[in-house]
Amino acid sequence: MSEKILIVGAGQAGMQIAASLRDDGFAGDVTIVGEEAYDPYQRPPLSKAFLAGDMDEESLEFRNDHFYRENNITVVTGEQIQHVEFGPAGGVATGTSGATFAFDKLALTTGAAPRTLKVDGADLDGVLYLRHLDDAKNLKQRWDSVANVVVLGGGFIGLEVAAVAQKAGKNVTVVQSGPRLMARAVSSITSDFFVQAHRARGTTIHLNAQVSHLVGENGKVTAVALADGTSIPADIVMVGIGVTARGELADQLALDMEDGVIVVNEFAETSNPNVVAAGDAVLMPHPLGHEGRVRLESVQNAVDQAKVAAKTLLGQREAYSAVPWFWSDQADLKLQIAGLSSGYDQTVIRGDQSADKFSVLYYRDGALLAVDAVNDVSDYMAVRRALTARANIPAESAADSSVPLKTLITGGEAQQ
Ligand code: NAP
Repeated sequence: MSEKILIVGAGQAGMQIAASLRDDGFAGDVTIVGEEAYDPYQRPPLSKAFLAGDMDEESLEFRNDHFYRENNITVVTGEQIQHVEFGPAGGVATGTSGATFAFDKLALTTGAAPRTLKVDGADLDGVLYLRHLDDAKNLKQRWDSVANVVVLGGGFIGLEVAAVAQKAGKNVTVVQSGPRLMARAVSSITSDFFVQAHRARGTTIHLNAQVSHLVGENGKVTAVALADGTSIPADIVMVGIGVTARGELADQLALDMEDGVIVVNEFAETSNPNVVAAGDAVLMPHPLGHEGRVRLESVQNAVDQAKVAAKTLLGQREAYSAVPWFWSDQADLKLQIAGLSSGYDQTVIRGDQSADKFSVLYYRDGALLAVDAVNDVSDYMAVRRALTARANIPAESAADSSVPLKTLITGGEAQQ
């Protein structure tokens, strides 16, 4: 009898597990169940090219129907799995429609959901979130008739939407509760640069600003009221204040979790040997072997962890060791991050911030940890290469911006 693998969650990680299972030679049943009405699609362009009108809905799809047919992958859309359990004869998952899915092994790629705003007026029309294609279509539908855009949250979603809106000629205000932009991902050097850069392009940014309530007329939002008394006119309020992991099904299976996030080992294995998990909903050991666990909300992690998970499902164990990387396009600024900078004790700045082209290298005890590069692909690539080879770029030599970083890589597997 052929083995059945069920993948719950049709995002980047779910799609990749299915594709990798076939690449790795799995011949049994593969079913992906997703709650959205669409076949798996790329999420990153939603807040960039799709919103700007440079990419259409069809181009968002990862693969066409032919791919799923040819690879014998069943994709079930519009079905939310509500219940999952293991019995003596294997597992069964039940969806909202009442449909059931039997499986031998399970992959949870349930992702994350936007944190919701909890102030008076948060349910007014025009208060929008951006996670799914339907959210993006809703936002786009309103786009042309909107003059005043207020973005709550100075993270990736907020700043990307703010940049597209600003370019489209709208009045844009970003309200950030903490002192820094993108604080989860970059240091204050990079945060400060982006504050200045967005302001220079015409966007108003409030830091350390708390939303008191939203004001509306006839059920529609008209302004954002801050705790200090400031009122900001708003035709739409775009909320990008972070996400929470979707761990409900893992909870039902009594998997090990930490604060609602699914804990996995370096093989993407949960505490149940028949269940793997990958993507935004997962807490895993630091991929470069440093202390502690990390949750990485990124395409790179979804893809690399999914590949590891597929191998684990097939008993071909290969530990996760990929170097984390991220990117964000904001106006004419391409931010690229390689590595994880948390715990750094030294920085080296290269390039010229006033020319919008620079990089920040992060070190701990003299060892390279990460880079934030702005419009500087060479520095980004050099650091990514060094980290992949577990090599170093000594801080003393990196400080000379006239020397290409790639010539300064020392030690590591690449040199052996
Ligand atoms: P995020 O990157 O975590 O940023 C959330 C931001 O909102 C933070 O700056 C946070 O400030 C701020 N914030 C929290 N509560 C707030 C409040 N009540 N009022 C105002 N600001 C508040 O999350 P996101 O931007 O919402 O993005 C959602 C998800 O999409 C994430 O997983 C993100 O990685 C992903 N995404 C990634 C990209 C990319 O990689 N280019 C692009 C778009 C989306 P503090 O940090 O001070 O708490």
